[in-house]
Amino acid sequence: MSPVTSAAAKPAAHPREDALLSAIEGRADELVALTRDLIRFPTVNPPGDAYRPCAEYLGERLRKRGFAVEYVRAEGSPGDTDEHPRINVIARWEGASPGPCVHFNSHIDVVEAGDGWTVPPFEGVVKDGRVYGRGACDMKGGLAASVIAVEALIDSGVPLPGALEISGTADEESGGYGGVAWLAERGWFSKPRVDHVIIPEPLNVDRVCIGHRGVWWSEITTEGRIAHGSMPFLGDNAIRHMGAFIDELERRIYPQLGNLDTAMPVVPEGARTPTLNINSLHGGQPDVTGTGLPAPVVADSCRIVLDRRLLIEEDLEEVKAGIHNLLDGLAQTRPGFRYKIRDLFEVRPSMTEPDRPVVRFTCEAVEQVLDKPAQIVCSPGTYDQKHIDRIGRLRDCIAYGPGILDLAHQPDEYVGIDDMVSSAKVMALSAYALLTRQA
Ligand SMILES: [Zn+2]
Repeated sequence: MSPVTSAAAKPAAHPREDALLSAIEGRADELVALTRDLIRFPTVNPPGDAYRPCAEYLGERLRKRGFAVEYVRAEGSPGDTDEHPRINVIARWEGASPGPCVHFNSHIDVVEAGDGWTVPPFEGVVKDGRVYGRGACDMKGGLAASVIAVEALIDSGVPLPGALEISGTADEESGGYGGVAWLAERGWFSKPRVDHVIIPEPLNVDRVCIGHRGVWWSEITTEGRIAHGSMPFLGDNAIRHMGAFIDELERRIYPQLGNLDTAMPVVPEGARTPTLNINSLHGGQPDVTGTGLPAPVVADSCRIVLDRRLLIEEDLEEVKAGIHNLLDGLAQTRPGFRYKIRDLFEVRPSMTEPDRPVVRFTCEAVEQVLDKPAQIVCSPGTYDQKHIDRIGRLRDCIAYGPGILDLAHQPDEYVGIDDMVSSAKVMALSAYALLTRQA
């Protein structure tokens, strides 16, 4: 399938827009400094470290520039404690007259640094035109770009109708329940407060992301009966039962996954079909002594976690039924087969329409800044758009930001400085068009 591109002809730059673009160019150093400052807050999730200082740093910066700033703690959300409060910051700048509201939403949390780094992960090292650090690409570089874009737009002095909002939200990496989901349930991501949302996730500087695939994680446990390992015929091995189930997956589920045509332009193209991963498999007794010699017994339980990704053409209940049917079939045909299945996590696929103003104007801005057509894509994994769509009932939402998707969560994560500047320009032009050019 060929990439979907925006068909709009290259728009002519307006002198006012040219001035805005050079103003952003002039703020490149400030953009780098802001990104480095944000990386220095080690907002690792789990457990949710340094959320408050990071949110306050962002809020304080914007308050000084005339934004009304609110801090919202997602009290009682998963992981929220006095030690690790789920603090979100939302800053709003009111324009000169009534009009739409354009909101830039970034998550402030990052995943743990992990091993394999050649630079310190929380210092914001600048090298070879890049800023390195955990969260540089996912997504503090995008957050910084949106802040510079909005500030430059406001400072341009052009009378702007409507409102501009910037939020820094918690817990995206763990599902967004203490962040965007919490706020969406309380009206922060719905009309009439907000009309358009841009999420600066790292989907590459020339791509406009209109949605993401869905997810279903399930835990399946097979049960057996413990016995001495020298006399397995006296027990019933749960690992062998699980082997039979995995064999069914191989024979009956995996071959079907590639057969679906989708309207979702997912990147990379390999993810343009449903996918199924076995995230983990654990069976038998744990090796408690660390000697590599677990107890010599017949395994009485075996557990796997399945990670099924869905396209918009699929029905989550049907997908679940397919797995339940396999298990029920085994229970009927395989002596001793007993199982339990539990849903761990689920998200329905989400995709907005490519003709929405937020998509059209952002594509137009990409073309204007980068001199090439934008590619309209969907993300293989989920991000907070699901909550804005399902809970906030706001369809006008995209992800657009600097940074290379593949680098997210890796060691030596970085964001290119040129890409950050370009994406800030795109965000400013898009916001300007959304505020001023809509009927
Ligand atoms: Zn992210």
